Amino acid sequence: MSAHILSGKEVAGRLQQEMKLQVEELKRKGIIPGLAVIIAGNNPASRLYVKKKSEASQKLGIYSRVIELPDDTSKEQLISVVDMLNEDDAIDGILVQLPLPQHIDEREIIQCISPDKDVDGFHPLNIGRLSTGQDTFIPCTPLGILKLLQEYHITMEGKHVVIVGRSNIVGKPAGQLLLNEHATVTYCHSKTRQLAHYTKQADILISAVGQSRLIKANMVKENAVVIDVGNSFDESGKLSGDVDFERVKEIASFITPVPNGVGPMTISMLLYNTLKAAKKRAHAKGDS
Ligand code: NDP
Repeated sequence: MSAHILSGKEVAGRLQQEMKLQVEELKRKGIIPGLAVIIAGNNPASRLYVKKKSEASQKLGIYSRVIELPDDTSKEQLISVVDMLNEDDAIDGILVQLPLPQHIDEREIIQCISPDKDVDGFHPLNIGRLSTGQDTFIPCTPLGILKLLQEYHITMEGKHVVIVGRSNIVGKPAGQLLLNEHATVTYCHSKTRQLAHYTKQADILISAVGQSRLIKANMVKENAVVIDVGNSFDESGKLSGDVDFERVKEIASFITPVPNGVGPMTISMLLYNTLKAAKKRAHAKGDS
C-alpha cells in the first residue's frame, strides 16, 4: 500500500488561517506584529526566499520590512542595521537571510540579533535554551517538522529518529527538538560509514542533505515515516528532494513530498515565531 502523504501545504494553510485570526486579535490590542528581513547581496535563491517570506507575512496582516543591502556591505554596516532593528519597537522579529557575502562571518551577525527578536532561532542563547528544554524560538524547519508530525498524530516518544544531516539550522536542532519529545535520536552525516545501516533502523527518517535521491527504497524500514527536507535539482533540472519519492512511498507509512512538504511549514513557522514575539510584546504592554 502506498504511504499517506504528509501535506505541508495543507497543514501550513490551516495554521496560517488560525494565525491570521491571532494577528487580528493582536491588532485589536494595538499591536501590529512586525518582521524585518535583511538580505545582503544578489543571490537569486535568497531573493526568492525573502520575497516568499515577505508575501506570506503580509498575507497574514504582519507588517513586513525588507532591507536590501549591496554585496559589498561591511560587517559594521550590517551590524548597525541589526542594532537599529533591535531598538525598533515596530519590529518583533529579525531575520538575516543566509548565506551572507563571504567576507562576513554569519555567526558574528547572528549573535548581534536580540535573542528576543531572533525568530529564526539561530542565536546561541536560543540554541542553548532549546538544548536544555527551555521555552525559546525554535528554528523554523525543525519546528515545522514537529508540527507536521503532530498534525498527523504521529507520536515521537520512544521512536527511533534517524536524521541525515547535522547543520546548525536543520539537522542538529531537529535532533534536539525530537529528543525533547522523548525520541531516541541518531545523527548521520557525510562521514557516516554505511549510511543505510542506520537509515534502515529509523521509525522516523529525516533527511536534510540536499542530494537528489540519496535515500533509496532499500535504505528505508517498512512503515517508516519519511520526512524529506532536501531541496536540490535532479539530472533533468527538476526540483528534487533527498528521497527517491516514487519508490520509497511504496514502503513508508507516511512521507512528505517535495515540493509542498516541509517547505511551506518552514515559512509558516517563521510567522508563528514572529507572532510569538509579538504576543510577548502585547503581554509586556499589558503588564506595564
Ligand atoms: P548543509 O549543507 O548545511 O548540511 C548538509 C548536511 O548533509 C551536512 O551535515 C553534511 O554532512 C550532510 N551530508 C552531505 N552529504 C552527505 C551524504 N552523502 N551522506 C550523509 N550526509 C551527508 O545544508 P542545510 O542543513 O542547510 O540544508 C539541507 C537541505 O535542506 C538543502 O537541500 C537545503 O536546501 C534544504 N532546506 C530546505 C528547507 C525547507 O524548508 N524545505 C529549509 C532549509 C534547508 P557534514 O556535516 O559532514 O558536511
